[in-house]
Amino acid sequence: MTGALRSFDKHQAEDERLRVELGPRSYEIVVGPGLIARAGRLILPLMRRRQAIIVSDENVTRHYLAPLRASLAEAGIAEASAILPPGEETKDLAHFGRLVEEILGFGIERGTMLLALGGGVVGDIAGFAAASLLRGIDFAQIPTTLLAQVDSSVGGKTAINTRSGKNLLGAFHQPRLVLADSDVLKTLPRRELLSGYAEIVKYGLLGDREFFSWLEEQGEKVLSLEGAALRRAVLKSCRMKAAIVTADEREAGQRALLNLGHTFAHALEAETGFGERLLHGEAVAIGMVLAFDFAAALAIAPREDAERVRRHLGSVGLPTGLSAIGLQRKAERLLAHMRLDKKVEEGRIALVLPRRIGEAFVMKEAPARELKEFLDAAE
Ligand code: ADP
Ligand code: ZN
Repeated sequence: MTGALRSFDKHQAEDERLRVELGPRSYEIVVGPGLIARAGRLILPLMRRRQAIIVSDENVTRHYLAPLRASLAEAGIAEASAILPPGEETKDLAHFGRLVEEILGFGIERGTMLLALGGGVVGDIAGFAAASLLRGIDFAQIPTTLLAQVDSSVGGKTAINTRSGKNLLGAFHQPRLVLADSDVLKTLPRRELLSGYAEIVKYGLLGDREFFSWLEEQGEKVLSLEGAALRRAVLKSCRMKAAIVTADEREAGQRALLNLGHTFAHALEAETGFGERLLHGEAVAIGMVLAFDFAAALAIAPREDAERVRRHLGSVGLPTGLSAIGLQRKAERLLAHMRLDKKVEEGRIALVLPRRIGEAFVMKEAPARELKEFLDAAE
């Protein structure tokens, strides 16, 4: 056995696989170390044609394009790559237009596999390209941020931004395979890692009290990328999201629970301009604390639970209040953003609120006066 093969086998033993059951659109998520180096062999059985187009961004390319290309070549897969600038600004119509023209220029067919190598931005724009090119081609995701591994790689949502708002142009398009390589997180900045961690905590808060307790004890191990703890957290998050998505692929009901903390978070992101100033997961951390505090103020959830949530998120270094980003006493502005949310119907602000840690529900119409008073006073 060659050295390369031996390490292939060694790593394979650490892989965990999760099947997302969506009938003919079912697919597997593989979580484990060294997956990029094995990507070619893992993807090949799903390919209808030995041609792959890699879509990535400049940062991710620097670290991982060469190993991915090598692994495709080793499996006899022809490839070409389209590299985008990093950042949310990339998810616009202009970049999308250039991207699809470039990919069409490579001479693709229906059986061509698009590979999204990157974080949520790459996953979203590449996924939407795959959904629309030739009315839909196959794609696989190799999420390289913790956020993308636990969130955007499950669910099949793809989208780009327009001048009217975020993610307003998109499609549901499921990947054929997701490879969540734990090794790539080593180059991810701590702040981006924490941003993904907030979404992991969300799964405990919305549906699994024991998982949240486990995170209180083991969260630091996840954040220091200790193999077993990290795999457990990623897998658990994907499993919970997959269960919810399977029950509700097109977001009719239960899937809304995934928005715990997000109505507040989107308002905070809109107010801070969707950029570096406040990362998505940081906004979600504050949003979840607000959801627990508001539920406590309405006497729906116990105050102790709200305190526990604030304590844990704060202990790992996530922001937990409006003052952390200078947005206290901006209730009117935040409410204005909340009323513009995609999910608002006839002016009613729906909120996902907790009953306790591990249990959430959708409140179809949040009481307007209480919400205003709450945000006025929130620190
Ligand atoms: P998200 O997945 O959080 O939505 P992005 O796709 O915007 O985010 O990625 C966040 C930033 O991290 C981008 O600048 C991206 O280029 C960079 N990045 C993504 N994955 C890695 C990685 N594994 N190592 C280093 N930087 C990365
Ligand atoms: Zn989110």
